[in-house]
Amino acid sequence: MKYFIINRGDGVSLALHERFTRLADQLGLTLDEEAPDTVLSIGGDGTMLQAFHKYKDQLDRLAFVGLHTGRLGFFADWKPEELETMARVMARPLEENANRMVEYPLLSIELRTKTSQEIHLALNEFTIKGIEETMVAQLDVNDVIFETFRGDGICISSPSGSTAYNKSLGGAVIHPSIPCLQITEIASINNRVFRTVGSSLVLPKHHHCDIYPQADKRMMLSLDHLGLQRSDLISIRVSVAKETIRFARYRPYPFWSRVQRAFIGQEPTTDF
Ligand code: NAD
Repeated sequence: MKYFIINRGDGVSLALHERFTRLADQLGLTLDEEAPDTVLSIGGDGTMLQAFHKYKDQLDRLAFVGLHTGRLGFFADWKPEELETMARVMARPLEENANRMVEYPLLSIELRTKTSQEIHLALNEFTIKGIEETMVAQLDVNDVIFETFRGDGICISSPSGSTAYNKSLGGAVIHPSIPCLQITEIASINNRVFRTVGSSLVLPKHHHCDIYPQADKRMMLSLDHLGLQRSDLISIRVSVAKETIRFARYRPYPFWSRVQRAFIGQEPTTDF
């Protein structure tokens, strides 16, 4: 089994990185940055986002696993004290771990200019915001004009990203086994003159949306933790990607338990 580690860079993550490397040597795992079978992220959710973007061209052949060094993460569910157990499970033959994988949907983001087309992937979300002024953009769903958006911006999240920025914007939490995307408004202007739907829209796989920003306006885009400024975009198409991300789930950790622990955190009371 070939592995590579991405760590957050803090003291705790670096120490765990070193400990895992020593264990891996003893267990016969091979360090391989070019073509690992498993990418271990040590840190937080942001570290997993970095790992995903580093290896997004090899998604069909590798799996990700996360160990958190702060609070419990959505992508990082192993604790530092479980490092040795995790290393031993990873060292099992690949076939033995094959049925311990879960596949989650990603977003495909197609940026079109007058002369080019680029396709990007996002694990959490894509956002577009105006820079100097209110963002005005036409939003189409499945090639039909849906609304003219005015406001701070638009966030389009994957199911995995539904617990991230999307949730702060009031979007719904969606189980990552549902292949879909969610469009959520960021501070839309709604009055008697300007009107947007106001609710988040959840689009299934095979549907798409297009955003047509005003020509030549500077826009701030984000793909997960990565930001880029553009003023040359004619349109942006977002859909559920044909690629998926594979997480090694060496033991069950139900999504709803993660949501409960992350956002509620205490045992529900039966004392009504
Ligand atoms: P970061 O590490 O500061 O992450 C911000 C927070 O988002 C952290 O608490 C992290 O645990 C959490 N997070 C990330 N992915 C998550 C997920 N899928 N489910 C639940 N929580 C998640 O910043 P970063 O490393 O730059 O991470 C970028 C991410 O931060 C973006 O993808 C976006 O989702 C999130 N973000 C959130 C807000 C907000 O909630 N207002 C604003 C900007 C960005």
